[in-house]
Amino acid sequence: MLLSSATRSLNPQSFPSLSFSHSLSLPLPQPFVPNPSKSSRFPSLQINCIDAAQPFDYESHLKNRYIQSTSLKIAIVGFGNFGQFLSKTFLRHHHTILAHSRTNYTGLANQLGISFYSDPNDLFEQHPDVLLFSTSILSTETILQKLPFQRLRRNTLFVDVLSVKEFPRNLFLKYLPQDFDILCTHPMFGPESGKTSWAGLPFVYDKVRIGDEESRVKRCDKFLGIFENEGCRMVEMSCMEHDKYAAGSQFVTHTMGRLLEKFELESSPINTKGYETLLNLVENTKGDSFDLYYGLFMYNQNALEQLERLDMAFESIKKDLFGRLHQVYRKRLFGDNGEVEKKTRFPQKLLGLCNGSLIEPPLDNARQDGS
Ligand code: NAP
Repeated sequence: MLLSSATRSLNPQSFPSLSFSHSLSLPLPQPFVPNPSKSSRFPSLQINCIDAAQPFDYESHLKNRYIQSTSLKIAIVGFGNFGQFLSKTFLRHHHTILAHSRTNYTGLANQLGISFYSDPNDLFEQHPDVLLFSTSILSTETILQKLPFQRLRRNTLFVDVLSVKEFPRNLFLKYLPQDFDILCTHPMFGPESGKTSWAGLPFVYDKVRIGDEESRVKRCDKFLGIFENEGCRMVEMSCMEHDKYAAGSQFVTHTMGRLLEKFELESSPINTKGYETLLNLVENTKGDSFDLYYGLFMYNQNALEQLERLDMAFESIKKDLFGRLHQVYRKRLFGDNGEVEKKTRFPQKLLGLCNGSLIEPPLDNARQDGS
C-alpha cells in the first residue's frame, strides 16, 4: 500500500529524493528504483506522516460503509419542539434527516444539518425510509388528509410519537395505503426530562403493521435501535394498554404540573426535597404546549375519568381537613355539650355523600386544645 502510493508519485526528474513529512528513513531497495542508472541520485526514501497523506483510508472507508448500511433516511413531519429534540439524537446516530412543518424552519434546520422542505411533495420525492409524525395531536388528522402519499416509495415505514396512541393508530389504519408499515411509539420523555440522557427512560411501541419481508423487519428494528442504543427502557405494548396507563400517570402528571404552575410555586431558601420535586414537576411540564395537554385530555378516552377522580380526591382531602377543624372550633364554642353538638349543622360545602349517607368528620384524633 505504502509502496504503491510512493511509486505513483515518484518523478525522478523533479524530486532528487522522496520526501513525506514524518521521520522514517528507509534505504530504497533495488527492485523499486525506477531508473537504476540514476540510482545514485536517490540515496534514501524519507517518509513523513503516513496516515494523513494516504489517499485511501481503509478504516474510515469501512466506517462509512457501516454507517451507510445502518443509517436511515428519516423525514420528520412536524418540526416543532419535540421533532427538533428527536432530530438531534437521530443525527448523532448518523441518520439522514429531512423535515417538513407548517412553520418555515429552514434556517434552524440548516444549522443542524437537516434539509427542510416547505412543500410535502418535495419532501416525499426524496423517498425517505421512515416518515415520522411529530405533529400536535389535534392537527394530525388534518395534516394526514393533505399528504401526497403517492409520491412515497411503496411500503414506507410510518411512525408516530404522539402522546396518545389509539388515536394515531386508528388514523394511520384509516388513511394510509395498505402497503405502508405502521409503528406507533411514545417516547415517554421530553426536551426537559430527556435533556441530558435517555438512559432508563421508557419508550413504548406497538408494531401495528410491519410486513414480513426481511428488509421491512430490519428497517423497523433499525429505527427502534436508536432508542435502544440510547439506553431507553423499551416497552412493547398495545396502543390501548398504553392509553389506559398513560391517563393514570402522564395525564395526571401534566395536570398537577399545570395546576402548580397556576398556583405560582416559588423557590425559597428552605426548600425541602419534596418541594424541590414539585418545582421540578412544574419545570418539566411548563415547556409543553397547551395543545399537547389538551390532546392528552381530548384523545385519550380514559383522561376524563382521571380528571374526575383527581377532583374527588381533592374534595375528599378538603373534607377531612375542614371536618376536623370544624370539630375543634365547635368544641371551643360550645364545650362538650352533646345536645348542642347534635344540633350543630355542617356548612353545606363540607357535607359529603357516601352511598347516600352523610359523612361525619373524624372525631377520634381531633386535637382538643384548640391550637
Ligand atoms: P405540540 O404542540 O403537541 O405539536 C407541535 C407541532 O405540531 C409543531 O410541529 C407544529 O408545527 C405542529 N402543528 C400544530 N398545529 C398545527 C396545524 N394546525 N397545522 C400543521 N401543523 C401543526 O408540541 P410538541 O411538543 O412539539 O409535540 C409534538 C408531538 O410529540 C405531539 O404529538 C406530542 O404529543 C408528542 N410528544 C411530545 C413530547 C414532549 O415532551 N414535548 C413527548 C412525547 C411525545 P409548526 O411548529 O410548524 O407550527
